[in-house]
Amino acid sequence: MDIKLYNTLTRKKETFKSIDDKKVKIYSCGPTVYYYAHIGNLRAYLFMDNLRRMFKYNGYELKHAMNITDVGHLESDADEGEDKMMKAVKRENKDPYEIAKFYTEKFMDDLDLLNIWKPEIICKATEHIKEMEEYVKEIIKNGYAYETKNTIYFDTSKLEKYGVLSNISIEDQKAGARVEFDNEKKNVTDFALWIKAPENHIMKWDTFWGKCYPGWHIECSAMGKKYLGETFDIHTGGIDHIPIHHENEIAQSIGCTGHIPANTWMHCEFLLIDGGKMSKSLNNVYTLEDLKQKGFDPLVFRIFNYTSHYRNKLNFTWEALESAKTSLYRLKDAYAKQLEGTEDVKDEILQEYKNRFNEAINDDLNMPLAMSIVWEVAKNNIKSKKFADLLLDFDTVLGLKIDEKIEINEELPEEIMAIINERKIARENKNWGESDRLRDLLSEKGYNVKDTKYGMEVTKK
Ligand code: AMP
Ligand code: ZN
Repeated sequence: MDIKLYNTLTRKKETFKSIDDKKVKIYSCGPTVYYYAHIGNLRAYLFMDNLRRMFKYNGYELKHAMNITDVGHLESDADEGEDKMMKAVKRENKDPYEIAKFYTEKFMDDLDLLNIWKPEIICKATEHIKEMEEYVKEIIKNGYAYETKNTIYFDTSKLEKYGVLSNISIEDQKAGARVEFDNEKKNVTDFALWIKAPENHIMKWDTFWGKCYPGWHIECSAMGKKYLGETFDIHTGGIDHIPIHHENEIAQSIGCTGHIPANTWMHCEFLLIDGGKMSKSLNNVYTLEDLKQKGFDPLVFRIFNYTSHYRNKLNFTWEALESAKTSLYRLKDAYAKQLEGTEDVKDEILQEYKNRFNEAINDDLNMPLAMSIVWEVAKNNIKSKKFADLLLDFDTVLGLKIDEKIEINEELPEEIMAIINERKIARENKNWGESDRLRDLLSEKGYNVKDTKYGMEVTKK
């Protein structure tokens, strides 16, 4: 069955053809580990995971690399603003390596909680300084870079065209440039490959040009080439990567190897909060931990993501998350009912559902359409173990663990857990008076209690 993917580079949906038969090589831009990932970031990694799972479902072998940006880079993609890691060092008064280690571990925990399959290769920028240095040397040798007092810049005027992904003209970029034109730069779109570190810079390395640190974009080019070769199949990232980070990766690659590194470029749209941007000033930057604190299993966030196509914006509200929770519970329930079913279903019918599901995921990861087929099977009037098996087969792409019970209360303090357990026993013994007393006690301690058919749900008020 064909796989169709939207390619940002050609601005159309194309039939996917891998470079190497049934193997697919993917590079995904990973997190900058200077703080917790927020749920917007996590949307990008859920998209990445569904892409992986779709390829597996179609029988492909995967070689997938994702970087961890553990060197500081500037707040904006365009060599502006404060170094993110420097900011974290000031905030936490800790060593940058310690900070990076902590948030990398937190990020990995988030991936596990969301049932995201980790890429085969996870590569840290700080462990590839040498590869980056060699890459920059190659670019210089090929005549695509120049050195100034403090920086080695990529010379975008040497390219046939800069801006092939976003397709905007240099004139537009000049008009959009927010900084004063750095008079050491030859062109407004030129960007830093390598930076000579000031005395007080926190992360720097001894390199050919003295104590330096890399520009942000070079790590992805160098590690992509190292692990996946000069040309690989797919490059993914968030939509914000299109105009600068990925344009610059493409520029660097042309400078080093003479060609664009990936055949297909895929980008995930943004998650909005209450219809707007996530921002610290609006106090609406949520993490997975915040969702858990409010009693949501992380997989509720996963199913919530299937309400929109990855190329559309997705609006997060607590009400929408509440409906996603109901959906996840209903799906688990429907699966359990099908599992107990004793009716028979013809193989042709099962195959037809499977084909429709496969077509939906192969159509540029149309998860909302795939979910509608999942519901047709789950809610079918015929109750059959064969349908349950089919749902489990779909779940290899959905990653919702539909056959597992949800543990709602696992993150609560010990004292609260003890009261919950006492209340469970009271209810088992039909001691309703004691059950009510313990509910009031939980309420006094700041917790809401809801008795549902899935068990007791306890959430912080
Ligand atoms: P960062 O750690 O800032 O490099 O971001 C990690 C990933 O999250 C990148 O692929 C971004 O494009 C993506 N991202 C950032 N904000 C959002 C958002 N609100 N919605 C979806 N993806 C986002
Ligand atoms: Zn990248």
